[in-house]
Amino acid sequence: INSTPPNFIKNIITEDLASGKVKEIVTRFPPEPNGYLHIGHAKAIWINFTIADEFGGRTHLRFDDTNPVKEDVEYVNSIKEDVKWLGFEWEELHFASDYFEEMYERAIVLIKKGKAYVDDQSPDEIRATRGTLTEPGQNSPYRDRSVEENLDLFARMRAGEFKDGEKVLRAKIDMASPNINLRDPVIYRILHATHHNTGDKWCIYPMYTYAHPLEDAIEGITHSLCTTEFEDQRPFYDWVIEETEMPSVPRQYEFGRLNLTQTVTSKRKLKLLVDEGIVDGWDDPRMPTISGLRRRGVTPEAIKSFVFEAGISKAYGEIDLKMLDHFIREDLKLKAPRTMAVLDPLKVVITNYPEGQSEMLEAENNSENPEMGHRQIPFSREIYIEREDFMENPPSKYFRLFPGNEVRLKHAYFIKCNDVIKDEEGNVIEIHCTYDPETKSGSGFTGRKVKGTIHWVDAAQAVPAEFRLYEPLILEDQVNDDVDELDEGEGAEEKTFMDHLNPNSLKVVQGFVEPGMKDVKPQDKFQFFRHGYFNVDSKYSKPGHPVFNLVVSLKSSFQL
Ligand code: ATP
Ligand code: MG
Ligand code: MG
Repeated sequence: INSTPPNFIKNIITEDLASGKVKEIVTRFPPEPNGYLHIGHAKAIWINFTIADEFGGRTHLRFDDTNPVKEDVEYVNSIKEDVKWLGFEWEELHFASDYFEEMYERAIVLIKKGKAYVDDQSPDEIRATRGTLTEPGQNSPYRDRSVEENLDLFARMRAGEFKDGEKVLRAKIDMASPNINLRDPVIYRILHATHHNTGDKWCIYPMYTYAHPLEDAIEGITHSLCTTEFEDQRPFYDWVIEETEMPSVPRQYEFGRLNLTQTVTSKRKLKLLVDEGIVDGWDDPRMPTISGLRRRGVTPEAIKSFVFEAGISKAYGEIDLKMLDHFIREDLKLKAPRTMAVLDPLKVVITNYPEGQSEMLEAENNSENPEMGHRQIPFSREIYIEREDFMENPPSKYFRLFPGNEVRLKHAYFIKCNDVIKDEEGNVIEIHCTYDPETKSGSGFTGRKVKGTIHWVDAAQAVPAEFRLYEPLILEDQVNDDVDELDEGEGAEEKTFMDHLNPNSLKVVQGFVEPGMKDVKPQDKFQFFRHGYFNVDSKYSKPGHPVFNLVVSLKSSFQL
């Protein structure tokens, strides 16, 4: 995971170095600070940082903050935290907004060459005259303004003489180009809005497609890696570099974006979930954001192994969420102590265990990792077991507790069920059992065998705990419609996924954990015997009353 599998980008870089086209490799990860990073971004981060590193190169973190309306320092800070948490270190940190002056100067270069003009048409008119895949667009009536007039109008746009939408600056290329992106794209718009970095200094802002190649060139990026939805923009990317006469020439290469089943990976859609209160913030453990995955209990190693396996190609494919689960289990298997938690408690009284007495039993912390040592757990006359581990009238092949049956209590003794105590309505409220002192775990007892082993906690000393159980946010039948566009347009909010929300994505239950877990810390991870991996929640957990997030269950049908 600290290198990339064989891929086309590495091949290109190898050739570029061999031919002397470039001397060192510089990549960048360029998020727009308009939301929190998600698992798709983790792939882009990993590719940029890892590939550069493999060639002894370097990577910049650059905030692509050219749209003041949607951007915020909260997002800037969360992005930095997330990149670091994933384990990557940027060589340089930049804000695209720091280049506004140079971008403006480069626009003037274009105007002077007759390669850009101020258009008075409204955004609607511009859209309507852009043409279609089969029909060419129409020239704007303002297309042939003189250089002097364009220079004057552009300066007055900057000076704040016009209202939002009244004028734009457009590249002058070809309204009949088969590539619609080359039909005189807008490169500057008027926006009287306060910017998180530049404040009220500017009221004109460069469009993403114009700004991005300039940012890359200014920073000396050699290989500008992005997702395939930008492929049709590449000719304009190259046009901007050439026509603005940038001394350094970056090249854009596209890889396939990461799409996951039952998962939305679009900041816009994730923001909708946050804004509509469907989730409890960007870091809700159900969110595919880096911060949500972290709070859920997913590790950077699991995420990196996952994106490594997903690979780097141009193909558009959807990856099964179960593959991520697989790598989470793989990573936590040897790291997380294995303890016992009862999520749906049923009291068991061990009638032949002396009242007022208790003992400490030794339990190994991880049967697959002896280095994790042992702990002591108390055992006494009353314990809790899982309600589903008892049945009064069991079907055949039910090997857990039922009247007359004997099971093993993990790390403790065999117990046998003798009596079932019920309330007036007939609900089972207590089980009476006897234990056999001979059968103590670790004593080497071989007298007889039992088929079932169940987990338990000591009733007198167990610590009350909350368990938050998760399922995917989106139902299985949801068609992933995450094919993304350059989201500079307004109003195209894709809401259909909101009709496919899983009503059972969060279930909260109250139960008990072993006494030794009273003082667990946020982000401590455990494997609860037979339940799965759990992580201490960083928002709701309190000393003395831990709250655990289900990271992933133990069962897996997934095959690599
Ligand atoms: P979103 O569409 O979720 O808002 P974005 O593409 O607008 O994301 P940016 O902040 O512009 O997000 O993205 C930064 C980088 O992350 C870009 O280079 C983009 O190509 C990449 N990226 C975004 N989503 C994915 C994904 N699902 N898989 C791989 N790379 C991605
Ligand atoms: Mg974006
Ligand atoms: Mg996008």
